[in-house]
Amino acid sequence: KDTPVIGRKRVLLAAPRGYCAGVDRAVIAVEKALDHYGAPVYVRKQIVHNVHVVSTLESQGAIFVDEVDEVPEGSHIVFSAHGVAPSVVQGAADRGLQSIDATCPLVTKVHREAVRFAKQEQHIILIGHAGHEEVEGTMGHALDRTTLVQNPEEVDLLEVDDPDNLVWLSQTTLSVDETMETVRRLRERFPNIQNPPSDDICYATQNRQVAIKKVAQDADLVIVVGSANSSNSVRLVEVALEYGAKAAYRVDYSSEIQQEWLEGATTIGVTSGASVPEVLVDEVLAELSDAGYLDVAEVKTAEEDLMFSLPKELRKDASGNS
Ligand code: SF4
Repeated sequence: KDTPVIGRKRVLLAAPRGYCAGVDRAVIAVEKALDHYGAPVYVRKQIVHNVHVVSTLESQGAIFVDEVDEVPEGSHIVFSAHGVAPSVVQGAADRGLQSIDATCPLVTKVHREAVRFAKQEQHIILIGHAGHEEVEGTMGHALDRTTLVQNPEEVDLLEVDDPDNLVWLSQTTLSVDETMETVRRLRERFPNIQNPPSDDICYATQNRQVAIKKVAQDADLVIVVGSANSSNSVRLVEVALEYGAKAAYRVDYSSEIQQEWLEGATTIGVTSGASVPEVLVDEVLAELSDAGYLDVAEVKTAEEDLMFSLPKELRKDASGNS
């Protein structure tokens, strides 16, 4: 019964996919803030890296800004799931803004690690991508004591004062395999480098990569739903290609699927990044169904049931209003 019929067009739908606990919490935080305080509510940076989510919240009265000094004094401001440096929190307080911190608790965990290691006067090698908001926020917690390394090759270029006083941390949304390679090279150069107390790459990033690896082995084409600036979505395209997909593309919307991608593709894998609402995946499945891919089988590699409570500012202000 499970043997695929040769030549029959089908979709393998990776699970877990889509919203993680941190994204869910951050989006609900903006919605609750709008409900409770009324529009506009300001949000520093994209609340999560997804164009659909951002435009939907904009239509409900959220205003996205790059920096706190763009926000009128006294307004409410939400910090995004990617987290902020302490200087941003201070800047908001100095302007008299009412802050709501939607930083994912798993990013906050990395911030705490950075602060602790800096206090112990260790030097942190942060594995991550330059310019990503999460990296800026984490580095801001231990500014003078952190050096960024983006990939295994950059390890060779590192210059450190004391090779015996190092610890590595990472961004939460990296490729697990590439990060392990970076760590391997770090250990080669600095055998005494200390590991983080627990994984920094979060459960959601890891689970989505495991699922797409399984799907990719059998897929002629993988479609990843997610935005261009979503680190974990972009990683899913790379992982799919590494694990055997003949082609892999990222789309924000089903309308971006190009007919030539489907030519000769019998099995199509579908997944979505951690900031992607399921409705966008449903639209991709509908588009594929129209193109004759009627069979959809879910390939599930893990169960997820993690949920985070709302940011404390909303628990306090919105109590009895949920
Ligand atoms: Fe948190 Fe991971 Fe989701 Fe980022 S991807 S918001 S770290 S759970």
